[in-house]
Amino acid sequence: MKNLKYYLQKAYKEGWAIGQFNFSDFSELKAIVNSAVSLKSPIVLGTSEGESGFIGLEEAVLMRNLLRKKTGLPIFLNLDHGKSFEYLKKAIDEGYDMVHFDGSKLPLEENIKISKEVVKYAKWTLLRRGFGGQEGVLVEGEVGRIGTDASRIYQEKFEIKEEFLTKPEEAVEYVKKTSLRQGFGRQAGVDVLAVSVGTFHGIDAMGESPHIRLDRLKEIREKINIPMVLHGGSGTPENDIKESIKLGIVKININTEIRKAFAERLLQDLQKGEIVPYKFLPGAMEAVSKVVEDEIRLFGSENKA
Ligand SMILES: [Zn+2]
Repeated sequence: MKNLKYYLQKAYKEGWAIGQFNFSDFSELKAIVNSAVSLKSPIVLGTSEGESGFIGLEEAVLMRNLLRKKTGLPIFLNLDHGKSFEYLKKAIDEGYDMVHFDGSKLPLEENIKISKEVVKYAKWTLLRRGFGGQEGVLVEGEVGRIGTDASRIYQEKFEIKEEFLTKPEEAVEYVKKTSLRQGFGRQAGVDVLAVSVGTFHGIDAMGESPHIRLDRLKEIREKINIPMVLHGGSGTPENDIKESIKLGIVKININTEIRKAFAERLLQDLQKGEIVPYKFLPGAMEAVSKVVEDEIRLFGSENKA
């Protein structure tokens, strides 16, 4: 099976994006994977520190392995918004395909320092695991604050403050200073960069969806040479998503929409008095599958597996 780096580069060249769908239990996970199977799409499964703390890092890896084997699909696992080197190290050791270090609340220097440690550890995994077809672990960096909370449906109109947007010159500095020299003159560094360009985590219940600052995205793209990641994809206007993919976004993270679909449908079905999990869960799973299918079509990753 081709690795995640292959698919990210393919997406970058061909102008589509891979969806990252977060989960915290097996029924959500199965629902996400079912959609990927029916649309023959590569996918990234995401777990935050909270989600992986609940489900277990080792368990998440074993479930990825099982689903890869059963479906034959390129299914990858990313540790989303890791806040410390120690936690990311654990995820790398357990066998995650990628880790995202979120140092966006730290001063840039500090963010760079820890990111570089993560890159070093992730890339050396290649040596630790042996060369038997294994690849190093990929790293997602972040500059600029995306902020807010994916567990919330905002009742107020929400806008990202100008000062939280990724500054192109900081992105350049980050990419440059987190890269390492490997043997044979090869460079290694963060593989993808999460940028703050107007989207936020969570959904705005007013329906005032966040617009993507395409002008800012374009400026960043012109200055750095690595693909980018869009967080807070839930609820973003479709046209903005399509335009952002043309400007170098290769991965789009969806979390709140999945949580919302799952919880709302579950609540409805439980209110009918059903107490058997395998009878009240399929409805919620169907709701999740629907969200994932729509996103896969929008991102253009259908039939790319
Ligand atoms: Zn995020």
